[in-house]
Amino acid sequence: MRPLLDRVELPGGPSDVRGLLRVPPGRVRLADYPTDSHPGSHGKTAALTDRHALEPVLAGLQERCYAQGHRTPDRRRLVLVLQGMDCSGKDGAIKHVVGAFNPEGVKITSFKRPTAEELRHHFLWRVERALPGPGDIGVLNRSHYEDVTVVRVHDLVPPEQWQRRYDEINEWERRESDDGVIWLKVFLHISAEEQRRRLLQRLDDPSKHWKFEAADLDERGYWDDYQRAYETVLERCSPPQSPWYVLPADRKWYRNWALARLLAETLAAMDPRYPEPDLDLSALRARLSA
Ligand code: AMP
Ligand code: MG
Repeated sequence: MRPLLDRVELPGGPSDVRGLLRVPPGRVRLADYPTDSHPGSHGKTAALTDRHALEPVLAGLQERCYAQGHRTPDRRRLVLVLQGMDCSGKDGAIKHVVGAFNPEGVKITSFKRPTAEELRHHFLWRVERALPGPGDIGVLNRSHYEDVTVVRVHDLVPPEQWQRRYDEINEWERRESDDGVIWLKVFLHISAEEQRRRLLQRLDDPSKHWKFEAADLDERGYWDDYQRAYETVLERCSPPQSPWYVLPADRKWYRNWALARLLAETLAAMDPRYPEPDLDLSALRARLSA
């Protein structure tokens, strides 16, 4: 009985992929961050084995969070923010890694070009509504960071307006942290060459044609502007309670492994526990046998 109530250990022992991938304070030059490296892993085969070993652990940690958030006053909830260029693997990461969780406790939201209704509100309005309740896990496939990246690159609002948003984002994330949100913000970092390969693969695979948007090719022309916009995000919106992680994402096996590990480390640090049962087991058993 007891082990169920104890701290959850990660397979292979504790790891610090968070420490390896966390953006250090100061000036960020994305060109200095490799896209095809694999910090903390022991190669593809070991990564696949480790990720499979992590799946039941992730599910177990999630269940503890869920039990705690739904049955006690604990308001903590993990929110995974996924950003990255087109084809950086946000959808694949959700399918392969977030898929380890029980869907009942996961709230996944994809952010597209804002609707007319969304545009009538403050840019944080739609993101706030996407946050999960206590004990659940939120996944944001794109997020409020679109409002300082695509919006900045394409001048969708006047500069004074997007320039204010870094502070607004920091204040809002801080308020949400105070209310129990544990942020895990991950930038999937791919090279322009890897994006080109993936776009070509989409063209070669009829089952991927539905995903292909000719406009994505125009966006490639703004590659450097996007990298600059992301550098500002990583410099200005990475305070200690909601830091960014830059994940080298050219290799899918590494992307999936590192994200699984980041999730496991973050959930394990929350140290979720099943609530202490307030049950008189022998009395309940006696009633059932009567
Ligand atoms: P996808 O991720 O392929 O479904 O594409 C979603 C598109 O919506 C991307 O091109 C995003 O840049 C765009 N998008 C998301 N949020 C915003 C926003 N706040 N303003 C403008 N475009 C956005
Ligand atoms: Mg797309």
